[in-house]
Amino acid sequence: KTPEIGSRTRTRAIMEKYGIHTKKGFGQNFLTDLNVLKNIVSAAEISKDDNVIEIGPGIGALTEQLAQAAGEVLALEIDQDLIPVLAEVLAPYDNVTVLNQDVLQANLPELIKQQFADPAKPVKVVANLPYYITSPILMNLLAAPVDWAAICVMMQKEVAQRLTAQPGTKQYGALTLAIEYQMTAEIAFNVSRRVFVPAPNVDSAIVVLKPRATPLAVEPFDKQKLFGFIRACFAHRRKSLWNNLQAAVGKQPAVKEQLQAILTQLAISPQTRPERLTLEQFIKLANALHAAQL
Ligand code: SAM
Repeated sequence: KTPEIGSRTRTRAIMEKYGIHTKKGFGQNFLTDLNVLKNIVSAAEISKDDNVIEIGPGIGALTEQLAQAAGEVLALEIDQDLIPVLAEVLAPYDNVTVLNQDVLQANLPELIKQQFADPAKPVKVVANLPYYITSPILMNLLAAPVDWAAICVMMQKEVAQRLTAQPGTKQYGALTLAIEYQMTAEIAFNVSRRVFVPAPNVDSAIVVLKPRATPLAVEPFDKQKLFGFIRACFAHRRKSLWNNLQAAVGKQPAVKEQLQAILTQLAISPQTRPERLTLEQFIKLANALHAAQL
């Protein structure tokens, strides 16, 4: 029986047969550890009831595991050299579709409608992400009008720590808040750099994002503007919230007075650091500044 794609021997054999040299520019680090691959599928709680989108199938190591567990798998791969390889190695699976597409250009709601036999089934994203575009991919997924049942993705450990950071830590920032706005984030497990071919310079972690269980306590007046405001508040992390607010809103005496009144009303100390504010406090602050036309 042929060994699974994610085994070291089979990966080596496939790379040799097709003359594959991994491309740094596409963030190609292939996973060659069947335990890790199977644990990713478990962390995503994939069942035959799920439609799965995989970003960057590479030579199909994770795709194969997903095909065995999921109803259908749609895999988007940017590297056209890998398309014929994937067609061959995944030929035994009739529930997999591979498209030669850049995930950042893809129209995901359209693809879900067109490619899945039953688009109403839960859709999960599972991927060993290309690390150079982790944040843009996550932001795109969250911006898409799709109710993701789960997003279970491997990324650089440091980025995983930012996604799951608590207020008051140095990892906490605009990215943490952008995720928290829509999802809950948890690190499922860490992964050593040694299980990849080639080994990257960083360790990795699997993050599982699930839809928020409870709605936001306060709605922002405008989501786009809220996040513009949050980024401005974090422009100088080591300065006080007050300093950052002045840089963002203005330093005129009348403005300062209004700012001071709003902070007092919200019981936020001007001398606090931006990383101490919760998402709810950022929303209330942005709403109050908007109401005061600041
Ligand atoms: N899933 C495979 C595995 O686990 O061994 C490969 C993972 S590798 C870290 C990332 C994959 O994403 C590569 O196959 C790369 O070509 C692909 N990729 C990079 N940028 C992409 C993009 N913008 N859209 C789709 N795929 C992309």
